[in-house]
Amino acid sequence: MNKFMASAIVSVSVFTMSCGAMEHSADSEMSVFLEGGGWRVEDSPYNLKPGSTIGVCDTGVKQGVANLVVQAVNTWLEVGGRDSRVKVSKTCTADRILKLVRVDDDVDYYGQVSPLQGKVYVVNVPDKWAGHWTSNHEVGHIFGFGHIFNGTVSIMNSEQNGAYMNGGRLSSYDKSEVKRMLSSYHFTLVNRLWVPSAATPATTGTAAPAHEEPTPRVATGSCTGANGTTIYAHGTVTTYKGNTYTCNKGKWVFSAGIH
Ligand SMILES: [Zn+2]
Repeated sequence: MNKFMASAIVSVSVFTMSCGAMEHSADSEMSVFLEGGGWRVEDSPYNLKPGSTIGVCDTGVKQGVANLVVQAVNTWLEVGGRDSRVKVSKTCTADRILKLVRVDDDVDYYGQVSPLQGKVYVVNVPDKWAGHWTSNHEVGHIFGFGHIFNGTVSIMNSEQNGAYMNGGRLSSYDKSEVKRMLSSYHFTLVNRLWVPSAATPATTGTAAPAHEEPTPRVATGSCTGANGTTIYAHGTVTTYKGNTYTCNKGKWVFSAGIH
């Protein structure tokens, strides 16, 4: 049963992530983070601000899939520390839309997603879409993750008939990768908006207690690199993917092109 065999056709020239019963070749490995071919980590729904809405737009796919996709979006959001301040519902009008489109069942994948265009991700849904397994996996692509091979226990690793897919749930490895992604500079600004609101002080009628600013996690003024671990001092100028970033008091200042 090849139900969860991973697709490996991903390359920079392929725009969609097809996930299903296809062989993977020796060159099938790719970054944990999904980049290239139209995919950009910064497009991840993790970059949505509090108050945003995500719609799962069911244009007539297999019954139950839309609900599973809503659940999957909430699961990935929660792992990233996003709470009820972002609303996920079955609607075709929202800040970010997952448009579910029915495709004939003779395709060689169990689910397929395309990179963000405007505010819409197109999700192709054959009837053989495999419940929460496929939902959590495909939505994982939308949040910015590629296929993870080499025996890693991950919902994004469907090699060996799904042996590593952790029952179709996110694994501890997946959760650590979400944290690593969110520590990259792409999310620095939005992360500040998602700091959990401190417990509301009881309204005792007296003056509110002094509120201290959150302590920066790294040395004041330094910036975290794209790999999520390297720390750059204030004033560092670096290039990444053909653009220039300058670390200025803890924030990466973007300028297009290499300077
Ligand atoms: Zn996939």
